[in-house]
Amino acid sequence: MNNNSTNYFSREYIEKVRQINERLGKIPLAHVHSFGCQQNVSDGEKIKGMLAEMGYGFTPNTSDADLILFNTCAVRENAENRVFGNIGALKKLKAENKGLIIAVGGCMVQQEHIARKIRKTYPQVDIIFGTHVMGEIPHMIYDKLCENRKTLMIPDSEGVITEGFPVLRESDIKASVPIMYGCNNFCTYCIVPYVRGRERSRRPQDVIDEVRGLVENGCKEILLLGQNVNSYGKEHDFGFSKLLCELDKIEGRFKISFMTSHPKDCTFELIDTIADSRHISYHLHLPVQSGSDRILKAMNRHYDTAHYFELIDYAKKRIPSVALTTDIIVGFPGETYEDFRCTLELMKKVEYDSAYTFIYSKREGTAAASMPDPVSDEEKGKWFRELLEVQQAVSEKAYSRFVGKEIEVLCDGIGRTADGCMTGHSRHGVIVDFNGGRELIGKFVTVRVQKAMPWAVVGELVGISD
Ligand code: SF4
Repeated sequence: MNNNSTNYFSREYIEKVRQINERLGKIPLAHVHSFGCQQNVSDGEKIKGMLAEMGYGFTPNTSDADLILFNTCAVRENAENRVFGNIGALKKLKAENKGLIIAVGGCMVQQEHIARKIRKTYPQVDIIFGTHVMGEIPHMIYDKLCENRKTLMIPDSEGVITEGFPVLRESDIKASVPIMYGCNNFCTYCIVPYVRGRERSRRPQDVIDEVRGLVENGCKEILLLGQNVNSYGKEHDFGFSKLLCELDKIEGRFKISFMTSHPKDCTFELIDTIADSRHISYHLHLPVQSGSDRILKAMNRHYDTAHYFELIDYAKKRIPSVALTTDIIVGFPGETYEDFRCTLELMKKVEYDSAYTFIYSKREGTAAASMPDPVSDEEKGKWFRELLEVQQAVSEKAYSRFVGKEIEVLCDGIGRTADGCMTGHSRHGVIVDFNGGRELIGKFVTVRVQKAMPWAVVGELVGISD
């Protein structure tokens, strides 16, 4: 096992900033906003953990904040434009409060041209940090507080994995646990390998200890995170299926889900592990992206639809009522309506519970950005709406397999389908609304499903199982 790929988080500057904040005579407030994916939300929880230890409280309002931090996403152009709009709106706040600290970090600013643009166009920003230096945030805040020094820190290299960050989790019953970072796949449309660096995995024992600690503290649902969890653990000679088997041995009442799988690395062994487990969700999120082999090749996905169907058929055979979900890109450069129709057909054949569907967004620096893209935005919008319609019908039909059945649900909040109803997720990851009260939040309950909808199922509470 390789022990050289990890270091431990230093609290030196947390302590220094905490001492400064203690002398203020009030609790300074931080506003932290994480854009984008679960990985960013998870990073945001670590950032909040560090800020809490530095003595900051939190506010949802930028106007009340002494420190504003945006943790950005680079996956879609829309998200980037939203961040620029939000940073621009802070100019007035900074003019009114010179002591306000503004920090912008994460995937978007890891791109050099974006970091340059922020530095040049938005002088109100004090701290610009990339994806590999989150642990340096306390030091950057200290430099700003003590020496009024602005920082731009965007190293190219991902460095080593850091363990031991303080984490301020958003929920007591659900927790995200990153198991690996970065990606080696270079799908031609995707910016992630450029902004998150090469693939590297946490040590299995660090992951197991974290999950065990969460379960012992009452956490009921653990989401394992990675850009491609199926290639977890290469440097530790400890694959993803083996990690799941070890986590499944932990005693307690909880479930484990994970995202994201890559069809080229998803194995029958992984499907068997899920099928034979006690705690692992009967849910496989397997992003197909396109139903056309020609487009899959252009996307550099390294599988074809025949291989994809083999995995789907095996999952349906082995995992009871398996929930299948996916990601689909509409309007990839060079895609024709014929290619798009293959995606529609695949969607109907697989019968996904749900699909994250996107219109292709050009990302500077990726291979697809220079590919000819003759289809108009209007045409892509039409295809997109057609896809949504098909998926809605497919989802409703897929969810109908639960009607009349009793399923176990972890209640996690207030539902949307009726006044006062509760909601939760089943072992399949399906949203389930049912009658009940707030005292059920955090409990496993049994629900008899009465009705399927395009995005959820609805049922009646028949028992509380913990
Ligand atoms: S597997 Fe492909 S789509 Fe997923 S993060 Fe890596 S490059 Fe991006």
